[in-house]
Amino acid sequence: MIQAPVQYKGSIKAKIDEFNSLKAEEKTGAYWDKTNDAALSDVKKHIKDYYIDVQDHVCPYYRQQIVVDHNGAWDAEHIIPKDVRPDFMFEPENLCVSCKDCNGEKSNKNVLKNPGYEYKKVPRSPDAYIICHPHFDAYEEEIKVVNNPLFFIPKSDKGRKTIEICGLLRFMYKVSAYGDVPVDIADEIGELQSALADAPGAGEQALILTVIRDKCDEGIRIAQRARVANRIKQQNAQAA
Ligand SMILES: [Zn+2]
Repeated sequence: MIQAPVQYKGSIKAKIDEFNSLKAEEKTGAYWDKTNDAALSDVKKHIKDYYIDVQDHVCPYYRQQIVVDHNGAWDAEHIIPKDVRPDFMFEPENLCVSCKDCNGEKSNKNVLKNPGYEYKKVPRSPDAYIICHPHFDAYEEEIKVVNNPLFFIPKSDKGRKTIEICGLLRFMYKVSAYGDVPVDIADEIGELQSALADAPGAGEQALILTVIRDKCDEGIRIAQRARVANRIKQQNAQAA
């Protein structure tokens, strides 16, 4: 959970006040991506630098630390998408940073329980959201993160929705698609992952995870053998 939302003052605040005073029809998500607006660039940099620091370089959706110095690895993330509610564009509690992959997956997908409801302000109740909110929800209560392979086990409906909306299964697919992992093994891993999400207890989860790890190892071993065999074949072809 992010400890404190970003604050604005001086020229940063002035630029945001200018945006907030626009007529409703002039506020669009595209405003954020305007180029050649130095004051806007300053605001965006302020927001990104602040959240990268306060989040300790951790993506709020897949919970991994990204250890890079430049802030280009990060996207400023509008939790309620800026195209859906451009008037919330600079609301501190609607902002954070996320990795580019989660941001891309999440895109303009709905995150609200009542998407049709015309909220006057950013809703502050976690119950208003169907995903694990970076500011208002405790991630550990919604999702368990398992490493090697990186894997996400939902603990609640919110957890399940977050995994779906932010595309967190991509890590499993990357492992299973690594090199030339046979399709049948990749498929089996996919099925095991569904079973894991539905497993009723910790015992079942641990068992399924063990099988997933074994399957991943098996797939990667086969892929590596295939790659070495290919390389030898190429060398022989060149020598001939
Ligand atoms: Zn992420």
